Amino acid sequence: MEPKVSIKLPAKDAARVERFAEITGVNVFACYQCGNCSASCPATEFMDVPPHQVMRYLQLEMFDEIVKANTCWICAACITCTAKCPRGIDIAKAMEGLRQIFLEEQEFARYNIFDIKKKVLEKLPQIALVGNFRKNIL
Ligand code: SF4
Ligand code: SF4
Repeated sequence: MEPKVSIKLPAKDAARVERFAEITGVNVFACYQCGNCSASCPATEFMDVPPHQVMRYLQLEMFDEIVKANTCWICAACITCTAKCPRGIDIAKAMEGLRQIFLEEQEFARYNIFDIKKKVLEKLPQIALVGNFRKNIL
């Protein structure tokens, strides 16, 4: 009989894996690395690591590699990758989940709407506020 291989993730990565599943519900193991997401993404040329490689890192639970890359921050949430994926994987949602996880790990990224100066608030585009409400506001 083949010996069972059991890999124990460091606590931080295990927490990230759990949080990723909780936030996104994305099944990263459905990805078969066809590369359609990266080929269709309008921002790939500006990314350190293309989207399909991020999916691979997710399969391997290599969050430290993902955090080193600028991919999820360059992602414009245009959802083209999601529309093009032959496996129906919501890659845009995965990117959003990653942004949220990494922001949650950095206390400075959280702020209160009442801390924003009125003058700044008046000039901010509404979409920027809505986007930040989803991620940053306590
Ligand atoms: S398009 Fe879908 S199946 Fe293909 S590499 Fe991207 S996530 Fe994986
Ligand atoms: S949602 Fe992000 S990763 Fe997907 S195609 Fe658009 S910019 Fe690229």
